[in-house]
Amino acid sequence: MKSVVLKFVNLVGETGLYRLLCPGRIPVFMLHRVTDGNDNVPGDMTADKLRSYLRYLSSRKYNVLSMEQLWQVLEKGGPIPSKTVMFTIDDGFFDHHDVAAKVFDEFGFPLNFFVITGLLDKHLWPWDDQIAYALNRTELRQVSLQLPSGGEYSIDLSVKNIRQTAREIRNALKKDKQAHIYRWLKEELYHKLKVEFPCNIPPEYQPMSWDDARSLRERGHGVYPHTCSHRILSALVSDEKHQEINEARKRVEQELQYTPEVFAYPTGRRSDYDLADIDELKRAGFKMAFNTVPNYVSQGCSHFELPRFSVPGAVADFIQIVNRFEAMKEKLPNQPMVSRSFLPTR
Ligand SMILES: [Zn+2]
Repeated sequence: MKSVVLKFVNLVGETGLYRLLCPGRIPVFMLHRVTDGNDNVPGDMTADKLRSYLRYLSSRKYNVLSMEQLWQVLEKGGPIPSKTVMFTIDDGFFDHHDVAAKVFDEFGFPLNFFVITGLLDKHLWPWDDQIAYALNRTELRQVSLQLPSGGEYSIDLSVKNIRQTAREIRNALKKDKQAHIYRWLKEELYHKLKVEFPCNIPPEYQPMSWDDARSLRERGHGVYPHTCSHRILSALVSDEKHQEINEARKRVEQELQYTPEVFAYPTGRRSDYDLADIDELKRAGFKMAFNTVPNYVSQGCSHFELPRFSVPGAVADFIQIVNRFEAMKEKLPNQPMVSRSFLPTR
């Protein structure tokens, strides 16, 4: 039943009705990992699924904006062109260059990359991925952790699955001071779970290279900083905030020979950054920043809190955001058959 309703809803969407009723909105999408089936990449977005989404946009003549085009639209402050979308991808893993960019190249669409500079420098791999890696390799079921704040967290993998446990540890750590998060993971989490901390970045968490990033820019894509270490900015003191923002900007500048003016907050919920971070970005010369609050970009948005939708796993959900039916839901009373399920990840 639900699929029949969705089909009808999306058929009406083909007429452009929802865009007409909900003008002035651009969906900016956020990708995370994209697998071509030959790698061990976590997540379920395949190159084929991504290709089918882009084919939909191409066949309906949607305009996929570059970052510069989005800036022009927002800076001018005039009406927002109706048939537009934009794409971003966060963190800077190898599949972003090797798989995702190639799919976008097939259609001549730009993709905007937010890279963790410490990952591309091979100094670290993201702390949130380190949690999942350890939980997937431990043979223990019950472990008690002492959090950096001194609080306790009890792991019981016989009751909660790895995904849920990883989410809970991640959320507990987000609330803590994050200055020494990487040391804590190695000395507390890996130690207690009796998992050997890998000497090198594991294959599935390898970054793209700076050469890859340069090649992306030459092919018309955008590359922008996403901090040095992916630590939660709101959980850092001002010197650390300054370093994460300015050092990441400097590394992109050094490697790519241009000055980036766009940024994305790690994990990007409203509680993951604060006003001091926005001030720091402005002082550093940035002009736009993205969070991960699922909504459309419109002229009323702060340029330092631009929202993004996670790319949904189901094509019908993707089409609903693209054709602005998702915006219609705000105007309608209860919509039991469709829910705002496009929750952010990274
Ligand atoms: Zn991220």
